[in-house]
Formats: sequence, structure tokens, C-alpha cells
Amino acid sequence: MRKLLLVKIASEIFLKGLNRNKFEKKLKDNIKAVLKGMDYEIVEDMGRWFIYSEDVESLIGKVKKVFGVSQLCIVYEVEADMDQIGKLAVDLALKDGGKTFKIEGNRANKTFPLNSMELSRDIGAYVLDNLPEIKVDVHNPECRVYVEIRKKAYVYSERIKAIGGLPYGINGSTMLMLSGGIDSPVAGYLMARRGVELKCLYFHSHPYTSERAKEKVKELAKILKGYTGKLTLFVAPFTDIQLSIKEKCREDELTILMRRFMMRVSCAVAKKYNIDSVSTGESIGQVASQTMEGLIVSNDVADRPVFRPLIAMDKEDIMAISREIDTYETSILPYEDCCTIFLPKHPKTKPRLENIRKEEALLDIDKLVEECVNGIEMYKEF
Ligand code: ATP
Ligand code: MG
Repeated sequence: MRKLLLVKIASEIFLKGLNRNKFEKKLKDNIKAVLKGMDYEIVEDMGRWFIYSEDVESLIGKVKKVFGVSQLCIVYEVEADMDQIGKLAVDLALKDGGKTFKIEGNRANKTFPLNSMELSRDIGAYVLDNLPEIKVDVHNPECRVYVEIRKKAYVYSERIKAIGGLPYGINGSTMLMLSGGIDSPVAGYLMARRGVELKCLYFHSHPYTSERAKEKVKELAKILKGYTGKLTLFVAPFTDIQLSIKEKCREDELTILMRRFMMRVSCAVAKKYNIDSVSTGESIGQVASQTMEGLIVSNDVADRPVFRPLIAMDKEDIMAISREIDTYETSILPYEDCCTIFLPKHPKTKPRLENIRKEEALLDIDKLVEECVNGIEMYKEF
């Protein structure tokens, strides 16, 4: 008998038709990447993936976080033999000390003489014979014992929820505008979870924002990297742009002008590094700059799709995800935000495109963007 880790793949991947192989290959590569340096072997049996290792428990924490894995189970592998399966089922039904159980049989291997129903019934009878003190409850059992018949038989009772989503890197790439706040790391996580490769861009306003603020963003990038494997963080010098806007343009348009520059620079960096799209942590109505008009005006300067995965989410729900993915405690550390420092007293909530364009005409837009892009620092290790 061997103890293995059964890796259940997100059901969406099974619906990919001809593309399924591509998704599965990516997923397997990503699993191998997180297990690099560990002693293990991937075993396949009729389409199911299992990982064998002397210490399967030690793999769970890592494999659980691979996007595209929906569930993990510690399974016992035996020959497809009713006696061996029955003994294991007895052990597992006993393990939790419950009074009721149910066998969930599944025959994938059609050469096995019993069908799924007969398998469940006969193993159930075997358990009852050996454990007269417990009963079958098909509706609400305290313990479910799963029996899968493939070339071998696999018996298990414990199911561990994994992260889900789609294999990282399968769905193009995005430039995440990563600030030190709560929202943008969550936005990045959600994009990555759908298989979109992340690169991050932080606008730093030295000396108005401190080294500490930059370190905080690096810390957030490091947490995201725990999900994505590799991650690049670009840090763009934003001070000159902000000072030029402040000097030449109307105070109540400062925020939206700044946002348009952030968008331009994000697109320019995306172009330079071949990144397909831009993503932000904006949510409609959350702050003065995130009105419909504000979003339309900042989108106006984008030359590629802009994704806002949090657009329709409540702050509460965003915070819940940020706790779940472990960015919350870092995000709430105090820091100066480049936007709050240059915050106008009465920001426009309904900017008008033609007015904004008129204001911008006072600036050398191309030069400011180019200088910002040229001043970018790149980090890969945090
Ligand atoms: P967050 O919690 O992500 O900082 P927020 O609610 O504070 O968002 P804003 O400050 O208006 O909202 O920023 C909206 C979005 O713009 C952010 O989610 C982020 O994607 C981007 N952004 C804001 N400031 C920066 C920055 N300094 N560097 C990179 N991106 C930024
Ligand atoms: Mg912010």
C-alpha cells in the first residue's frame, strides 16, 4: 500500500476541449516548479494525477496554492481487490470516530466487475460486518469514504480545498498597477488566479513618499510572488510628473490628471516589455477618482485593455480576500500614498474629457512619460 496525494484539477479545465492538453501541461509544469528540489514522483492513472513522496503531507501546503488545482486528497493506493479496499475503508471509517458513514464508489476502469453502485454497496457491507457499532447514512454521514477504481484502487476520506482558478501563465499577461493599499494586491491575485501572468508597477514619489512605502510595496509583491512563482516589480519615478501637474494645471483636476499619467506610463511600460494589458484595483464609487466619469477619462489614454477585477465588489469583500491571501496585514501598515500627498482639497468627481485635455496641453506629455519610463527600476527578488 502506498500513500499518495491525489491532485484534483479545476473542473473548468476539463471543458477546454482541444486546448485541454495545453492547460494540463501548464498546470503540471507549475506544480513541478513549486516542488522543485523536493523528492517526489508524479504518477498518473487513467487521467488522474497523484504525487508520490515519502512525506506527502509536506507537499500539501505548496500544491494547494497552485492555480488550477481545486482539491487535494491523501489517498491510499492498493490493488483493485475488494478485500484490500474493504480493510482500508474500515480503517478510514473508524478514524474520525463517527457513528455514521457512507461509501462513495466510483469505477473509472470498466474492466472492474462491479459498477459504481455495486462497489459502494459491497464495500459498505464489508465495513458494516467489521464495525457493527456504526451505521450507514447516505444523506448526512459523519464520514465519507471514497473508493476510486482505476488501474489501481484509491481509498480516501479527507478532502482539502485548494486554490482553484486556471494555470498561471495560460491567459496572457497584465501590468498590475500595484500601490501599497488593500485593493491592488487583491486585483492582482484575482487576475493571476485566472491564469494571467502578472508584472507589477509602482509609482514612487521620492522624496514625498518614503523608502518605507516602497519597501511595503515590495513586501506585497513578495506575497503575490508566493502564488505566481516568478514576479517582476517595476518602480517608476513619479515625482516630476506630479510636480509639473501641480505647477501648471488646475488644482481640482490634479487627481484625474495624475491617473491619466499613471495609465500612460503603465501602457508604455507594458508596450516596452510586451505585456498585453493593464490592471488596477479600482472599484466603482469607492473614492472620488473612481466614478464612472473618472474611469472613462483615465481609460481614454490607454492603448490596451484595462482590467479592473474589483469593479463591482464591496470593500468588505475585497478586505475578506486580502485577509485570505495574506496581504491585509501588510496593506494596512501606515504609509504615504503618492496620491494622498498631492490630493486636491476638492477633487472633481465628474471630470470632462475636453477640459482635461485642455489642461494637459500645458504639459509636455510625451517627454514626461518618456522620462518616467526611462527612470524605471526593476526588481525580481524581494
Ligand atoms: P489601493 O488600495 O489599491 O491603493 P485605493 O482604493 O487606494 O486602491 P486609489 O488610490 O484611487 O485607490 O488607486 C486606484 C488604483 O490605482 C489602485 O488600486 C492601483 O491599481 C492604482 N494606484 C494608485 N496609486 C498607485 C501607485 N502609487 N502605484 C501604482 N499603482 C497605483
Ligand atoms: Mg491607494
